[in-house]
Amino acid sequence: MPNRKILVVGAGLGGLSAACCLLKAGFEVEIFEQAAALGEVGAGIQLSANAMHVMRHIGLEESIVEIGVRPGAYVFRLHDTGEIIQQFPLSAEHERQHGAPYVQIHRADLHDLLAKQVGKLRPGIIHLNKQAIGFSEDATGVELKFADGTTARGDILIGADGLKSAIARQIVGNIPASYTGDAAWRITVPVERLPKNFLDQVMSVFMGPGGHAVCYYVRAGKLLNFVGLVETDEVFEESWTIKFPWDRLKNDYRGWHPIIQTVIDAADKDQCYRWSLHNRLPLRNWSTARATLLGDSAHATLPYLAQGAAMAIEDGAVLARALLQPSPVPEALDFYQRNRVDRTARVVEQSTKNRALFHLHSEAEIRAAFARRNEGEDRNKWLYSYNPLTVALT
Ligand SMILES: Cc1cc2nc3c(=O)[nH]c(=O)nc-3n(C[C@H](O)[C@H](O)[C@H](O)COP(=O)(O)OP(=O)(O)OC[C@H]3O[C@@H](n4cnc5c(N)ncnc54)[C@H](O)[C@@H]3O)c2cc1C
Repeated sequence: MPNRKILVVGAGLGGLSAACCLLKAGFEVEIFEQAAALGEVGAGIQLSANAMHVMRHIGLEESIVEIGVRPGAYVFRLHDTGEIIQQFPLSAEHERQHGAPYVQIHRADLHDLLAKQVGKLRPGIIHLNKQAIGFSEDATGVELKFADGTTARGDILIGADGLKSAIARQIVGNIPASYTGDAAWRITVPVERLPKNFLDQVMSVFMGPGGHAVCYYVRAGKLLNFVGLVETDEVFEESWTIKFPWDRLKNDYRGWHPIIQTVIDAADKDQCYRWSLHNRLPLRNWSTARATLLGDSAHATLPYLAQGAAMAIEDGAVLARALLQPSPVPEALDFYQRNRVDRTARVVEQSTKNRALFHLHSEAEIRAAFARRNEGEDRNKWLYSYNPLTVALT
């Protein structure tokens, strides 16, 4: 039913990729973003095959592979000795199994590619400085209201406005967020500051008592992305842009493996960010007759499975398929939601479980947990194998 006009709130990774899918399907789309300029924070993001199918569909696979890194493996290591406890292959094996690559890319690079692709598909549809504050709907359409007093009218509204979504607040009320007990450090380090070949081009997870650390390369291997998850009672805002002192980061990782020390020592001391991670229970119903949600606004997840953006990307592809069904808008939105609720809830649940797995307090516990669980086998079975473009919708 491509003669429908779709309003998308939020030009993040989810909103932009959904817009590309919808434009490709022939819909009219307008995107409203509260920020004055488009952009993303300086950090990495991982895209497994389930998301890369969509990137291929919207014409971005080649550029993403070129500007990103295809890691050889997913490697779980002890925090102090660095001993590898378990690993599973990515790279060619991931592509052989799932038909699309596993890529690690800088968020700003991915965001830039998506924004440009939207512009190529339909120029001039991203409207900046447009903070949505609510909407009203009737049998013929939906009216979106902005903080500047203006409105926009369409047939369908999509809230892709992230963790603190105004659209979600109207649809489901305030979604309670409880502090997980974890903060996420993020730094990036240019590789020329690091010893040559000091860390393979793999996805490395160092697991230790009360914390873990993730290292991988982005920008065609020129930049190392570090995310450090630590348990702390000190709660701050959920924000990617809050800086914290470098010596606190150094202190949090005292006694960890020399690789971790090398990365922290090479960081710009005034460019260390820390984010307080919060839990939100997954929603079961996130749509009205004419409005729905996607991405973090519907199912915010902890980053412990590296799948939040991937879920937002999957959402957009399934939503475009659902809206192509010859059914009235409320049924189409219900169809979309029905096909996304269980999968996204499973990702939220597994991400939360991984917190316990990655933060075990003794080496013996870590060994025992990984002896019971084959992380690669599990993820290959249900997570990476999903193709949102071809999965049967019911
Ligand atoms: C430490 C960490 C590491 C992560 N690593 C990964 C990873 O490796 N792989 C992965 O798949 N995911 C990862 N994630 C999760 C991923 O970042 C998010 O799930 C993803 O960014 C969600 O995209 P989104 O478009 O739904 O929301 P956002 O990216 O938050 O975008 C929302 C957009 O809406 C705009 N907006 C908000 N309110 C309004 C409003 N009222 N009006 C207009 N515009 C508005 C915002 O300005 C923003 O541009 C990670 C998260 C964290 C915290």
